[in-house]
Amino acid sequence: MTPTAPNPAYDPNNVFARILRGEIPCHKVYENDAALAFHDITSAAPVHVLVIPRGAYTDFHDFTRRATPEEIAKFWQAVDHVVQQENLLPAGFRLITNTGPDSGQEVPHFHVHLLGGEKLGPLLS
Ligand code: C5P
Repeated sequence: MTPTAPNPAYDPNNVFARILRGEIPCHKVYENDAALAFHDITSAAPVHVLVIPRGAYTDFHDFTRRATPEEIAKFWQAVDHVVQQENLLPAGFRLITNTGPDSGQEVPHFHVHLLGGEKLGPLLS
């Protein structure tokens, strides 16, 4: 399911790669064969789940261009599964993905923050 050409910019020892290899623990919420969802260790809301692909993608841009359609579909299905599992509808939720230095992306493995469980403040203030 993963693309044949590895991305030379991908750091295989980033913290999420290590979580995927089981070298660092996480509080798992859900997984399928293309994605893993777990609680963010620094919660910014009552529900703060990170969803990451199992494949080696540095960020949204890399994932969208290099992942297979099946990986992309299964990734977003995992996000939707967590939305349902955490009962985030109909109240709502927020998805954020930081990409690159200007965004403040800390972990260079594509991930989506899923935030909810309370009325969230404005995104930009
Ligand atoms: O989008 P950004 O890269 O800035 O976010 C990375 C997130 O990964 C942070 O919210 C941080 O709390 C989380 N993290 C985690 N478990 C780790 C290391 C980082 O949940 N072991």
